[in-house]
Amino acid sequence: MHIQLSSPDISQQDIDAVVAVLQTPTLSLGPKLVEFERKIAAYVGTRHAVAVNSGTSALHCIIRGYGISGGDEVITTPFSFIASSNAMLFEQAKPVFVDIDPVTMNIDPQRIEEAVNNRTRAIMPVHVFGRAADMQPILDIARKHNLKIIEDSCEALGTSWRGKMAGAIGDCGAFAFYPNKQMTTGEGGVVVTDDDELADVARSLRNQGRGTGGAWLAHERLGYNYRLSDINCALGISQLERIDIFVQKRAEVARHYTQLLADVQEVLAPPPYAEGTMSWFVYVIRLADRFGMAERDAVLDGLRSRGIGCNNYFTPIHLQPFYRRMFGYAEGNFPITESVAQRTIALPFYNNLTQDDQRTVVEALKDILASLKR
Ligand SMILES: *Cc1c(COP(=O)(O)O)cnc(C)c1O
Repeated sequence: MHIQLSSPDISQQDIDAVVAVLQTPTLSLGPKLVEFERKIAAYVGTRHAVAVNSGTSALHCIIRGYGISGGDEVITTPFSFIASSNAMLFEQAKPVFVDIDPVTMNIDPQRIEEAVNNRTRAIMPVHVFGRAADMQPILDIARKHNLKIIEDSCEALGTSWRGKMAGAIGDCGAFAFYPNKQMTTGEGGVVVTDDDELADVARSLRNQGRGTGGAWLAHERLGYNYRLSDINCALGISQLERIDIFVQKRAEVARHYTQLLADVQEVLAPPPYAEGTMSWFVYVIRLADRFGMAERDAVLDGLRSRGIGCNNYFTPIHLQPFYRRMFGYAEGNFPITESVAQRTIALPFYNNLTQDDQRTVVEALKDILASLKR
């Protein structure tokens, strides 16, 4: 038996869309790029969408686009995928970590203001696992101190918060389309914003620093090749047509897990979300407080040995080896993040995961937990 941790949802329509591009002479910077950007912007509700080759590139274009550089600070969470704060390091800016709320696992807004100083340029909340961060206090603090809000929405395409879509709440957002995300382009990402200037600079940065409408060999600034091919964009357009179905299917899988786990005393299921629609990225449970990392790792091993994909989302960023070396971080720096991170288990989660497989996963989990004897 094997139940994967994640799996993309690729239809015949997706395959046909990709093949159709291959039958044209324009494989990059063509009509599918323009169409994909227009449709993402319409879906998220921003004026601009700039498609790039990864979520990491999208975050980098934002940091660079705002001119955030050496000596500048950006307040963010250590409980995230490493790319969110790496984007700052690319520009020699400093991620300033703030601990999380133990229930939502998102940045704790009550701890943000004490981290603001005269070098702070922006706040980067991450909508972890698809759950929107507590945005109202973040919006208030950003306005008060004149800071940009960069939403790392890479895990939250389709999430709404008080009538707005994730990515359209702050000044700009980044999405990612790696195959484990809600929808995929194979690899890919996008910057969304209402800011004309940021959009222009991001377009230039992704295309070797070329100017808007400028000549092919006129480079106005140091840029990159962060382009997303029309092949990828065609897949994105086709996937985006089904995003509402994807979000719905994932909510249904999550609901069923929560139901199956209701009587499992040893684990905490994700809490309800009350601010709109939550677009689920992964389904992450947590072992109860009395358990530690050794027991969590034993559960991961047990699941894997039964052919069930699982993972510890996330290892805190500040404890990654090169962050320790660069900044001198150690255990104890962000105790809530560390305590949560020691006990998380991402269970198999994707659109077409069957209820039978979900039952198998939960039965295996119960079995392994019983053997922990606590
Ligand atoms: C996936 C992800 C990214 C980066 O996306 P890539 O496309 O893999 O570069 C950034 N931040 C978060 C929180 C993510 O989950």
